[in-house]
Amino acid sequence: MKEIAMTRFLDADDVAALVRETGVANVIVQMAHHIRQDFVRWDAFDKSARLASHSAGGVIELMPVSDGVQYAFKYVNGHPRNAQNAMPTVMAFGVLAEVASGFPLLLSDLTLATALRTAATSALAAQALARPGAATMALIGNGAQAEFQSLGFHAMLGIREIRAYDIDPAASARLARNLAGVTGLKVVVVDSVRAAVQGADILSTVTADKTRATILTPDLVPSGVHINAVGGDCPGKTELHADILRHARIVVEYAPQTRIEGEIQQLPPDTPVTELWEILSGRAPGQDGSGRVTVFDSVGFALEDYAALRWLHAAAHARHRGSHVELVATPPDPRNLYGWMMDAGVAPHAEREPLAALA
Ligand code: NAD
Repeated sequence: MKEIAMTRFLDADDVAALVRETGVANVIVQMAHHIRQDFVRWDAFDKSARLASHSAGGVIELMPVSDGVQYAFKYVNGHPRNAQNAMPTVMAFGVLAEVASGFPLLLSDLTLATALRTAATSALAAQALARPGAATMALIGNGAQAEFQSLGFHAMLGIREIRAYDIDPAASARLARNLAGVTGLKVVVVDSVRAAVQGADILSTVTADKTRATILTPDLVPSGVHINAVGGDCPGKTELHADILRHARIVVEYAPQTRIEGEIQQLPPDTPVTELWEILSGRAPGQDGSGRVTVFDSVGFALEDYAALRWLHAAAHARHRGSHVELVATPPDPRNLYGWMMDAGVAPHAEREPLAALA
């Protein structure tokens, strides 16, 4: 008798358990490795800017990508006012499928993985662009992403001091509390952006507000710093004064998407930018010691979620995490969908192994 094809399912608790068991910093480092592997294969991927559906309170986006062997997509929202209703600003789930058959191999929560892969990508960019020996980072916006950004920069760049500022003091206090036990990382809570940038080598902006904000103005940005601009990620939602961008070297994930969604939506559409994959694959230089400010204009690209899904799939397989669900109907006689419906529920269930390698 033909076995029913099953999809591995990781709910939010499954993903949290996988990350706890592996260690948050370890996961960020491992995801960064996956992201680097995928970014250096840039030309192998069928890429597109994400499809965004905007509303008054936020945005819902679909983010597909494929290398011809595996296909991935993420569903993600961004609703800055959700916190008022005890809902996260960002929630996500995604699918990894095999291209050869179209069968979905994995359905997973990606809310936590979004924070992890965003931190991993930010840290990868900063490794290439921040001045060597960077030890202090200003972190402006201390919401859901903040611990992951802090741990990613601590693990991947050796950042030892986080200077944390948020308009909501409770957010900064929570960040300091959550990271209190991390050896070699000090969180200093301050009461203004100006105090946060004091002595910082890296300035990270991770705020949420659906507006043209100017969290950083040129007078707050000393020469030679690296700016990790994470919060401005959709049309009409930015964090940097345009004059900072006009004088900086700008690095983006995927220019066609960032020109619509990123800080550079404030600049003419032909403004020169470098894509991160060019630096990671050695085609463009990283930090050049010129003292010019560098900006990683992060908006989040589908390839990072593909890498995150690859990590989740391999980790869940290795640790036997998650469950198996009959996500899609696969009748024994594929053309007899009607007959299968009438007799459904009798065949044995088994996970379908992917055709593609897991690693
Ligand atoms: P969140 O709502 O949990 O936290 C946002 C924090 O920013 C809150 O604590 C809020 O008080 C603070 N804030 C708002 N305005 C501020 C200001 N003017 N100055 C200082 N702090 C301010 O959101 P989150 O999940 O942490 O996400 C933060 C931002 O990052 C969002 O805009 C989100 O869309 C974006 N994001 C980007 C990526 C990416 O890949 N680039 C990935 C995930 C999230």
